[in-house]
Amino acid sequence: MTLAANSSVSASNFIRNAVDDDNRTGKWEGRVETRFPPEPNGYLHYGHAKSICLNFGLAESYGGVCHLRFDDTNPAKEDREYVDAIVEAVRWLGFDWRQHLYFASDYFDIMYACAESLIKAGKAYVDSQSADEMRANRGTLTEPGIDSPCRDRSVDENLDLFRRMKAGEFADGAHVLRARIDMASPNINLRDPAVYRIRRATHHRTGDKWCIYPMYTFAHPIEDAIENVTHSICTMEFEDQRPFYEWLLEALADAGHFPRPLPRQIEFARLNLTYTVLSKRKLIQLVDGGYVTGWNDPRLPTLSGARRRGFTPEGFRLFAERIGVAKADSWIDMSVLEECMREHLNEAAPRRIAVLDPLKLVLTNYPEGQSEPCQAPNHPLKPELGKRDIPFGRELWIEREDFMETPVKGFRRLYPGNIVRLRYGYVVRCTGCEKDADGRVVTVFAEYFPDSRSGTPGADNYKTKGNLHWVCAANAYTAEVRLYDRLFAYPYPGQRREGDPEDIERDFLDDLNPGSIRIVQARLEPALRAAHPEERFQFERHGYFAVDRFDSAEGAPVFNFTVTLKDSRTKGGK
Ligand code: ATP
Ligand code: MG
Repeated sequence: MTLAANSSVSASNFIRNAVDDDNRTGKWEGRVETRFPPEPNGYLHYGHAKSICLNFGLAESYGGVCHLRFDDTNPAKEDREYVDAIVEAVRWLGFDWRQHLYFASDYFDIMYACAESLIKAGKAYVDSQSADEMRANRGTLTEPGIDSPCRDRSVDENLDLFRRMKAGEFADGAHVLRARIDMASPNINLRDPAVYRIRRATHHRTGDKWCIYPMYTFAHPIEDAIENVTHSICTMEFEDQRPFYEWLLEALADAGHFPRPLPRQIEFARLNLTYTVLSKRKLIQLVDGGYVTGWNDPRLPTLSGARRRGFTPEGFRLFAERIGVAKADSWIDMSVLEECMREHLNEAAPRRIAVLDPLKLVLTNYPEGQSEPCQAPNHPLKPELGKRDIPFGRELWIEREDFMETPVKGFRRLYPGNIVRLRYGYVVRCTGCEKDADGRVVTVFAEYFPDSRSGTPGADNYKTKGNLHWVCAANAYTAEVRLYDRLFAYPYPGQRREGDPEDIERDFLDDLNPGSIRIVQARLEPALRAAHPEERFQFERHGYFAVDRFDSAEGAPVFNFTVTLKDSRTKGGK
């Protein structure tokens, strides 16, 4: 497995080159029409974001349009809930399909007519072999297949059987309609692939109208052709299907169903991301198995989880641009995605103060009952956003890790005798601490220097190495903060590792990170009490956080950790 270089190839890539070529030859007279075709059988994940940015981005940059099409030809696994979640996710990413919202199931009548046309042209037949016989007669990579005894049925007999399949005269699996291509083709996908099967299942949109359903490989090219798609962009696993895609559309163009030029299929490598899994099947396992709290758990690589986590559409677009597209399979390190989120959030997120692991600091020479406002900048890169007041007082919360009774070498924060600045406030000297019966520090004591206040002329007389953040105890907002870590502890969940014995099979669930969530009661500056769902902040010295959009109440926001301030992992940090 190789990690792909973090380079931008979006400005020119092979897909753009293909579009440019078509535009040069005037194939579609400059029209660029793409589609994003999710199957509504799960929530969208980060991999889909790559595909969405690619398809919508391409259309956008050529002045074209991208369709949102639900590929709902498989009746069994699909659901309205998924349709709604997908619409919401694509919108959230900031893309617009205008009037082009489609459901493949709306095309069932046309697909059926296409199948009859193939039969009439001698290009499809009803096969009555059992599934086992069909499999056995399919041949292998090295041996050709064997023609079905039904392959030479007459057009009339095929039409009659197919119509009776549709009418519900036969049991599931009794017959299938197959394209009549070549049982000896070196490409197994061309050995008379099945195009229609009998399936008594209720469809989420068409109900019980149909008891035969088209196969995906038959339906998809037809959907593209119906919608006048120019470039049908899909992932590499469909490369071997391209000859059938082209065979089918040529056959249907010959029969007068679609005008030429026909849509062109172009494949690219799917996104693989370390420390997570991008497969709906595995995501369903995580949700159904209770390993996460639901489809929108912030640890899941779903777009609804990402949104709740505080990831941004801008960050996803930047990521898609940065990783580019290629034909070769590769892994992208999760830190690349995190860096894209961080870059956008650094720009966008106002700064606030939060103490995540609170320890009481008492300033023994500060008057009891007194309070004064200190001024903190809302965004150091954007002075125009001004400053806000944060209250200062005798009792403060500081981070537990900012105090050491016996400092280790190089520790510059609070320890008895040391002088530090309380950021935006005063300089203080630590005088000692108090411990409970177990020897755990419960209160730290210090004295403040009244002439050291930040922003006053006296402040410059103090040189300190430590610069700690703090929150005034008298009016801090105590809130639940969820600290998330990566969902998996191993970069390639479920994959074999170097040195694994031959016979070992790994389960991706064994690679889950047991510490992927930690919940703390943090002390936050009072202004954060008024934060709204989905507002994002930088908590100084900690990282980026977002207000949970589901568990927060008016005046009682709950915060989710989004991403660290710096990439500490790859730089040898914690
Ligand atoms: P999964 O393997 O997770 O079930 P899928 O391909 O079956 O995904 P679809 O709903 O069919 O899911 O996908 C819609 C579109 O998203 C397809 O065009 C597919 O190629 C693309 N897509 C899915 N996963 C990825 C990925 N990891 N990277 C890039 N594109 C992807
Ligand atoms: Mg699929």
